[in-house]
Amino acid sequence: MGGHVSATQIASLCCTNSSMFFKLTRSSLFKMRLPLIPISMGVLGKNTIIPLFQISKASSRHRLLKSIARLIPRYERCTCDECEVFSGIFGNTFWHQNVSPTLHYWLNKHSLPSLPMSAFPHLRKICTTGFIVDPNGSNTYLIHPERLALSTLYISGGRSLLVTPQTSFLANQYMRLHQPHYTHTRIVVEGFGHSDLLIGEESYKKVFPHILSHIRSSEEDQRNGVTRLQESKYSKEALSWGDDLYGERKKGFLSWVSPLVLFWLFMMFSLIVASYLL
Ligand SMILES: [Zn+2]
Repeated sequence: MGGHVSATQIASLCCTNSSMFFKLTRSSLFKMRLPLIPISMGVLGKNTIIPLFQISKASSRHRLLKSIARLIPRYERCTCDECEVFSGIFGNTFWHQNVSPTLHYWLNKHSLPSLPMSAFPHLRKICTTGFIVDPNGSNTYLIHPERLALSTLYISGGRSLLVTPQTSFLANQYMRLHQPHYTHTRIVVEGFGHSDLLIGEESYKKVFPHILSHIRSSEEDQRNGVTRLQESKYSKEALSWGDDLYGERKKGFLSWVSPLVLFWLFMMFSLIVASYLL
C-alpha cells in the first residue's frame, strides 16, 4: 500500500498486529468477504474522505454511510459517536478498558478529523487473500524475502481484535525460514487487542520494553557487524510450520452469532442503499 522501502534504509523492523500475513478474526473476515466495501465506495462516489467529527459538515452520501456504520455489530459499543462510526467501519481497534478516558477523548475528538477510504479496496484484497498483495491482487512482495535482510520483532495482542496472533506467528516463521542469520522474535501480549498495544495505559510496562530490547539488540548486532541466529528453545520449531499456541481461541456458538447478525444487516444495508440510489 505505497511501494516498498529498501531494507538497507531500515535498521530493524518491529510490527504490532501486522505483518506480510493478514489473518483476520472470524467476524472481521466474514465482514470483509461481504461486498460491504465495494458498496460503500459506490455510496461515497468521488469524495472518498469521510469527515468523522460529529460537528463536521457531511454530504448526504457521507451521512448515509455513517448511519449504516453505526449499525454494524462490533465487540464493544461506546457512548462517543465518532468512536461508534470508526468502529463500524473498521471494527473495534482497541479494548476500551485498556485505554484511558483522556486518550479516548483525544483519539476521537482531536486526532482523526477525517477518514480517507480510497485504500480500502486494496486492503480488502489483502485481507481476503491472507497475505500482502499489490492493488491488482498479485503476489509481488512475498516472492522477495531477500529484500527483508534485517532483524524483526512481531508483537500480537493475545485478546484478538481484527486480526489473530497467527499474523505474527506466520511472519516469524517466514523470517526464520528466509533470513535465518538475523534475530527474529515474536511476542504475544495477553489482554491486549489491536492498537491498544501501542496506546494502552499499561503499554509502557507490558509492550514497550520488548520494543526497546529489540532496538538495543539490533543496534548491538550492527555495531558488532554480525548477524546472529537466535538460539532459543523455539529454534527447532522454526521451520516446522507447526500450530500456533496463541491461535484464535474457539468461542463456541457465540462466535457465529456476529456473522449471522452481519449477514442480516448486510441484506438490510443493501436494501437501504438500493432505495437511496434508485
Ligand atoms: Zn469508544
